[in-house]
Amino acid sequence: MALSDREYQAFKREMFAFIWRELDPYESEIERTDKVPREILPKLSRARCFGLVVPKEFGGVGLTISQYVEILAELSKIHGGIRVLVHVHNTTAKAVGMLGSDKWKAELLPKIATGEASVAFGLTEPDAGTGKDLRTRAVRDGKDFVLNGRKWLITNSDIATHFMVFCHTRQESDGAGISALLVPRGAPGFRIEPLPPTMGCRGGEHGLLTFENCRVPCENLLGDEGQGLHQMTVALEVSRLLIAATSLGTAERSLELSLEFAKKRVTFGKSLAERQAIQIYLAEMGADIYALRNMIRDAAAKADRGERIPTEASMCKLFGLEAVGRVTDRALLIHGGIGYTQKYPIERLYRDARLNWLEEGTPTIQQLVIARNLLNGYKWSA
Ligand SMILES: Cc1cc2nc3c(=O)[nH]c(=O)nc-3n(C[C@H](O)[C@H](O)[C@H](O)COP(=O)(O)OP(=O)(O)OC[C@H]3O[C@@H](n4cnc5c(N)ncnc54)[C@H](O)[C@@H]3O)c2cc1C
Repeated sequence: MALSDREYQAFKREMFAFIWRELDPYESEIERTDKVPREILPKLSRARCFGLVVPKEFGGVGLTISQYVEILAELSKIHGGIRVLVHVHNTTAKAVGMLGSDKWKAELLPKIATGEASVAFGLTEPDAGTGKDLRTRAVRDGKDFVLNGRKWLITNSDIATHFMVFCHTRQESDGAGISALLVPRGAPGFRIEPLPPTMGCRGGEHGLLTFENCRVPCENLLGDEGQGLHQMTVALEVSRLLIAATSLGTAERSLELSLEFAKKRVTFGKSLAERQAIQIYLAEMGADIYALRNMIRDAAAKADRGERIPTEASMCKLFGLEAVGRVTDRALLIHGGIGYTQKYPIERLYRDARLNWLEEGTPTIQQLVIARNLLNGYKWSA
């Protein structure tokens, strides 16, 4: 059962205060060291950040999508490395909740809710495109699958206790047959190596995973054999919406900082805020944010009512990355040359936001999904 509105409002107040009081101060340390300090993990656990979407019966907070997007947007105003860590953890928690067997749910979800366990999402490959093209393969041998292949850019590969690995387990003539296997860290034949530092959302590890004759028990299948990718796509339909919520938070913070800066900085005897050119930027930033906020609210409410939202989620993700792109561009312009330095967080927000183009699929993928669904008769619902 979800939190009542009163319980949620109290939770949200505490969570927002925690984000700014306990997490925001780590910004410069993470930028300097390119590491999210381990001391943050117990803090996140105590604040229940690891169990945000885990159902209450498994020890989580059990937020609805409409509630989770608000928390995620606020988290996206501070350092992107923390947002990525928490968000990927919660996304895979949702996947385990929806596709895990009763045994896996009972075993893993309570640990996921506290952060004692964490599952990474292993889809992208260095040697192939994402989808039917995947090269990672698992062949049945007795009670095990024998897994071979490589994955890269896998977030939380430094803290994950398990990896959800997408691989072909059958050779269907149409190229389908992709399954999801839960591979524990430390399984024989499984190696994890770090990749170079990222442009933004620094501080986490997005590793290269190599599987060489790695034996994985057949009971570690998530979902049905050969249906894993399809089932995961349906189960995680909302995850594109969640990236839009990230865009929203980053855009809102960029506007807040720009408003402050425009009022403070004086050139030729007037504040920037008094210049019409700057006001036009601010107005357009506000309009983008208002539109995105309402798109997300609409799609989240539909998801909470149990409706499928593949088109809406892709539209939100696509519009969100374009909106946060425009907003962070303008925020940088408003800040002038000093905005290009690390004196203000705008430089980091600009870099952090660029990940939103990639997470949960590039703009091209979103355009393909939206166009296909429109052509197949998608109808706008009220
Ligand atoms: C910091 C970070 C964290 C990440 N975390 C994860 C994670 O936890 N788990 C995970 O699985 N992945 C993760 N990713 C990977 C991310 O999801 C992918 O990078 C993204 O989906 C793009 O896939 P790709 O890198 O394989 O690019 P490619 O598929 O090589 O695409 C490159 C370009 O070509 C275009 N393109 C490719 N194929 C086609 C086609 N058929 N038609 C038209 N255009 C095409 C794409 O749109 C893109 O513009 C992460 C990436 C980053 C940067």
